[in-house]
Amino acid sequence: MNSLASRLVPKTVGKLIPYQSARRIGGSGHLWLNANELEKSCQYGAGDGEYHRYPDFLPHDLANAYLEYCRGTGDTLRCEAVAVRGADEAIDLMIRTFCQPGADKIMICPPTYAMYEFCAESIAVEAVKAPLLEDFQLDMPAITRQLADTKILFLCSPNNPTGNVVEQADIIALLEAGRETTLIVVDEAYIEFAPETSVVNLIEQYPNLVVIRTLSKAFGLAAIRCGFLLADSSVMEYISRLIAPYPIADPVAEIALRALESDG
Ligand SMILES: *Cc1c(COP(=O)(O)O)cnc(C)c1O
Repeated sequence: MNSLASRLVPKTVGKLIPYQSARRIGGSGHLWLNANELEKSCQYGAGDGEYHRYPDFLPHDLANAYLEYCRGTGDTLRCEAVAVRGADEAIDLMIRTFCQPGADKIMICPPTYAMYEFCAESIAVEAVKAPLLEDFQLDMPAITRQLADTKILFLCSPNNPTGNVVEQADIIALLEAGRETTLIVVDEAYIEFAPETSVVNLIEQYPNLVVIRTLSKAFGLAAIRCGFLLADSSVMEYISRLIAPYPIADPVAEIALRALESDG
C-alpha cells in the first residue's frame, strides 16, 4: 500500500470506488436485470454479431493477448496490461489519475508528440519543458534538476516527430533518479520499427515505469482506436479506477485479437 503510485495519487482518486457496472459485478444466467440490455440481438445488416450485451468491463482476453505479443518468443514479462481507446486515452488516463489540477506538473521533452501537453493543459496541469538537445537526445541535467517536482515525465521512443530512439541508459538513469518521486511514461507507439529498444521488460524492476503502445501505427489499425497501457499492478490499481466502464467495443476487441494472433 506504500507504493510510489499510492503516494502520488491525489486524495480524490485514492478514495474513488470504481463504477460498479453490471459486467464488473458479474453473475450468471441469461437475463441480467441490472444491465438493462435487450435479451436478444437485433440484426441491422449482414454479418452483424451478437451485440446486444455490454462488453467485458475490461477486456481481459485482449490484454492477455497483448502481453503474449509483447513476450514474443520466450521472454517473461511481469507487468499488467489494459486495453484502451488508442494510446491517446492512455496518456489522458495517466494524467487524470495521477495529477491534481492546478497543483501538479508533468514534464515533456519537445519536439515531441503534442497530446501530452494538450491533455495536461486541458485539466490545468502544467507541462514543464526540457527540450531535446541538437542530436535529439535528452537534456539529462535539465530533466534531472526538475524531476522530483514532476509527477509524470513523458518520453517518446522512437520519438515523434524526430524519429530517433532515446538512449536506454538515459531512461534507466531517470528511472533510478525518479524511483521515489516520478512516474516515467515511455510512449512506444513506434516500437515495432525498433523492437530491440523496448523498455517494457524493465517494468518488473522499476514500478515507476509505464509503457504505452498502440495498434494504430505498425499494425495499421488506426480506425479501431485500440492501444495498451503496460504497468506494475501498483499503478494499474489506480488507472482501473478512472477507466471508462466499457472502454473497448466488442467489434474492436474482435479485430484487435485477430491482428495480434496473426502477428504473434
Ligand atoms: C499516433 C501516436 C499516438 C496515438 O496513438 P493512438 O493509439 O492512435 O491514439 C500516441 N503517441 C505517439 C507518439 C503517436 O505518434
